[in-house]
Parts: sequence; C-alpha cells; structure tokens
Amino acid sequence: MDDLYRENILDHYKNPIYKGTLEPADLSFEDENPLCGDHLRIDLRVDEKGNVTDARFSGHGCAISQASADLLLESIIGKNIEDLKKLTKEDILDLLGIEELGPVRLKCALLSLKVLKGSLYGIGQKDEDL
Ligand code: ZN
Repeated sequence: MDDLYRENILDHYKNPIYKGTLEPADLSFEDENPLCGDHLRIDLRVDEKGNVTDARFSGHGCAISQASADLLLESIIGKNIEDLKKLTKEDILDLLGIEELGPVRLKCALLSLKVLKGSLYGIGQKDEDL
C-alpha cells in the first residue's frame, strides 16, 4: 500500500468527519465483520426525492473498516439512493486509494458498503409494507 494512501486512511480513522448517530434517522442498518471484529452502523437522512441529506456512522473496528465508512459517507451526501445502490467494490477501493487487498482486509473495507446497502434496501421494504 502506498504511504500516502495509508496516511489518508489513518487520518480518516483518527479524525472521522462523519462519526456519530442521527436521531431520528430515515434509514439505519448495522452489521459486523466477525473475521476482524469490526462493527458498523450507518444512519442516513434522505429527502422526499431520495437524496441523502445527512449521514453518520458509528461502531468500532480496524482502521480500514472505519476509514472506509467515513470516506464512503463523505462521498454519498447529496446523491440519490437509487444511484448509491449501484456502488461496487471497486468504488470503495477507489475511495480508499487501494488497488487490491487480501481477502480478510477486503471484508474490512467492504463492510461499509454492505451496511450502506442494507440501509438502502430497507427503504424498499418500508415501501412494500405501506
Ligand atoms: Zn477490520
């Protein structure tokens, strides 16, 4: 891993911008990566058009899992949840500035995407309930 990128990850880990919770949140989801012990919860607020107006994450875990959540939330504010459903593993690695990771570290990096998608698909379930 390039030192510059490593520094960026550590910086987001130590000084996260989007760490916290939203009460109330429109969408929330939490999950964990048992391989590493990472736990993550994401809270989102969305407007009536489905655009993300605010986002926070909480939890604990390794630098990659937490920095990935911070970078991901930074990138999704103002975006529409339909577009966010199309985010891929490559998008997360781009955000982290990492081209490849071993299988264990990859799960750390992708936990944020997994939790985000869990929260996004929650709104679909809510619609079906109505
Ligand atoms: Zn981890």
